[in-house]
Amino acid sequence: MSEIQPTDRTRVRLHSERGVFDREKIYAILDEALVAHVGIAVDGQPRVIPTAILRIDDHVYIHGSPNNQLLMALERGAPACITVTLVDAIVAGRSGFGMSMDYRSVMIYAKAEKISDAAAKESLVAAFIQDILPGHIVRPPKKKEIAATVFLRFPLTEVSAKIRDVGVVDPKDDFELDVWAGIVPLKLVGGVPQDCPSLKMGVATPEYAKHYSRGR
Ligand SMILES: Cc1cc2nc3c(=O)[nH]c(=O)nc-3n(C[C@H](O)[C@H](O)[C@H](O)COP(=O)(O)OP(=O)(O)OC[C@H]3O[C@@H](n4cnc5c(N)ncnc54)[C@H](O)[C@@H]3O)c2cc1C
Repeated sequence: MSEIQPTDRTRVRLHSERGVFDREKIYAILDEALVAHVGIAVDGQPRVIPTAILRIDDHVYIHGSPNNQLLMALERGAPACITVTLVDAIVAGRSGFGMSMDYRSVMIYAKAEKISDAAAKESLVAAFIQDILPGHIVRPPKKKEIAATVFLRFPLTEVSAKIRDVGVVDPKDDFELDVWAGIVPLKLVGGVPQDCPSLKMGVATPEYAKHYSRGR
């Protein structure tokens, strides 16, 4: 795996030691994320939309309805800024200034490329399902469903990650205070699955739904 070369835009300025350009680490963050925020400028107005994201090799993919305004603007060539954020811990310092979060985040600058081939779109549907809920089995997509879904991909060339994993950073003169400090780790873990009310009799809740979690 290679290092991604920082550009003027992706050079991390504040806490530059937290900037990460190692492809493997960036890809691990993207793979853990369920959701990205895609930002574009529409007539000078910033617009940021949350959406599902999938990484395959050196691209990330998003999808949606052909009437989705964001996808239409991206298709027309609007430059995008895509971010992904994983919050790993609440950092409880001994002061307001010492409060923070440990996190892993990625920022991507790229333009979209549309996927038009029906077979490629079909395999992307399958890949999205396995990324969101590994093990889930669905019926094959209908032609009209594939036709009614736009898939866009973005190259992972101008990308940065930032990782904070240092926990509490309080000044030494706070250490004697009678105040708790520490971290509260956070993790995405599924709750108890609830069967669809119209589930066919005899269909059992699968194990993959009972034990859902993402990440390390
Ligand atoms: C969960 C979370 C909470 C945060 N809370 C705060 C907060 O309360 N206050 C605060 O000041 N900062 C916070 N940050 C950090 C924030 O995202 C920026 O990194 C920070 O504001 C410094 O920006 P800058 O001026 O260096 O960035 P800029 O100069 O605006 O950015 C330069 C380049 O650095 C890269 N970059 C900057 N930040 C990130 C990032 N987070 N992930 C990936 N690439 C990045 C991008 O490529 C960007 O184009 C938080 C980050 C996360 C993920």
